[in-house]
Amino acid sequence: MKPFQEKMVQGWKDFAAGKIDAAALKGVTAGFGIYPQRNDKAMMRIRRPGGIVTTEDLRFVAGLLAKYGADFAHITTRQAIQLHSVPPAQVPDALEELEAYGMYFRGGGGDTFRNTLVCDFSGLHADTVFDVLPYARKMSELFYAFDTAYGLPRKIKIGFADRAADTALAQVQDLGFVARLVDGKRCFETYFAGGIGFKPRTGIKLFDALPAEECVQLAFALTRLFNDKGCRTNRAHARIRFLREDLGDEGLVKLLLEYFEASKKDSPSCPEEVLVEEDHAITRFAENAAPAAGYETWKRLAVRPLADGLVGVRVFVPFGNFTAAEFSKFADVMDAYGATRFQIVATEDLVFEVPETQLAGVYNVLLNELGDRDYTMKSFVGHVTTCIGCTICKSGVQDSPAFGRALAEEFDKALQPLDTDGKLAKAAKILAEIKICGCPNSCANPPAAEFGFVCKKSAAGELQLVPFSSVRREPLELGVMKPADAKSIAETATEILSRLT
Ligand code: SF4
Repeated sequence: MKPFQEKMVQGWKDFAAGKIDAAALKGVTAGFGIYPQRNDKAMMRIRRPGGIVTTEDLRFVAGLLAKYGADFAHITTRQAIQLHSVPPAQVPDALEELEAYGMYFRGGGGDTFRNTLVCDFSGLHADTVFDVLPYARKMSELFYAFDTAYGLPRKIKIGFADRAADTALAQVQDLGFVARLVDGKRCFETYFAGGIGFKPRTGIKLFDALPAEECVQLAFALTRLFNDKGCRTNRAHARIRFLREDLGDEGLVKLLLEYFEASKKDSPSCPEEVLVEEDHAITRFAENAAPAAGYETWKRLAVRPLADGLVGVRVFVPFGNFTAAEFSKFADVMDAYGATRFQIVATEDLVFEVPETQLAGVYNVLLNELGDRDYTMKSFVGHVTTCIGCTICKSGVQDSPAFGRALAEEFDKALQPLDTDGKLAKAAKILAEIKICGCPNSCANPPAAEFGFVCKKSAAGELQLVPFSSVRREPLELGVMKPADAKSIAETATEILSRLT
């Protein structure tokens, strides 16, 4: 066990023995992304920089779920994997096994450096500038040993995009990087002090072209600045974006540049030679297979073009959840076709790339060889993005997956079968642009969606469903709804459908 884990591990032992309560436990465990759930079992959030997982990883996690009697794993909007309902007494052993395997927890939650986001299919688009995943991984590795990043006023979130088309991702992070080439040299257009959640803001553009090798030095500089100047007395005012109110944008930029100059003298740089590039899987699904029924509809919703004859496939994961048996089956079947590497994406799905000639073969396998789970979006149920909700999360006030299911059933009634271009266009928007959260913490990113919802309790204690203002678009004006009210759900679905174009 590492020294910085000792208090947390002791905390779980004391909690299991009934010596401390969940509130006391949270103080020592939150920074590791290991939280007490509503049922007093543990949620363990495994960091996965850029969301990359292999079939070997999935089988390993499946083995742990089974061994420790955990209920299921959830793949998250921030590209991590959560194990749910791990018995408290088993947390220390599970932690040791996962870390020995190379799955880390430091910074999984609390006021720390969180999992680093990477856009989907980095390095594989026709307009990719360069693959940013190796930078995200190197940054995460260097941050692991950077103690300053684990006792911050609030969390710090970093994201990478491999092309201009994904700039929006970088603009709503505490620090965001977008790949650019300038005179043949790798650079990053750089944004900071953006964010979603309470009072969302678009980030300030700091550099047009930061030399790519300096990205970690800049991230360390921002972390130090935040550690020194961030608000520690009012959590609602503690994220980096609130320093803009305290110091002004110009003042904050000036201060960050001073920290950056100092950081360049004592923090690690990230030259290309220290990056680990990885080979992508070579798949062997049937070539030019005759597709099963529903192929053209699925193709419109699940597939996007990439470079070099490849296409990107989205595996729709019901509710973002896998039991141990479901993880194992998925990994075994995909392994048999050489699909060994996947990326967790913000819709709580998995994506992977294949040659276009194998696409029908992929569809046939997803449809027919994985049991009765709906990996191809035959129904909207399970495929409207929500957070894990209040039945599990202690902060939640509403069962957001249940509300997502109710909305999905309305969409099925209105749009299935998806047999026209108009219905398919609406379906694609539903799958990308609805995000529902069980409390205002916004884990499923409602402020970055076209239709974002959070659940709140009113002053009178009544549950309310509130359309969230968007950093990208005008707020919805649907008024406040009661989430359990079927009429409200039907009206909300109708209102959303009328706005989809
Ligand atoms: S949004 Fe709220 S309810 Fe949902 S997982 Fe996050 S903290 Fe829990």
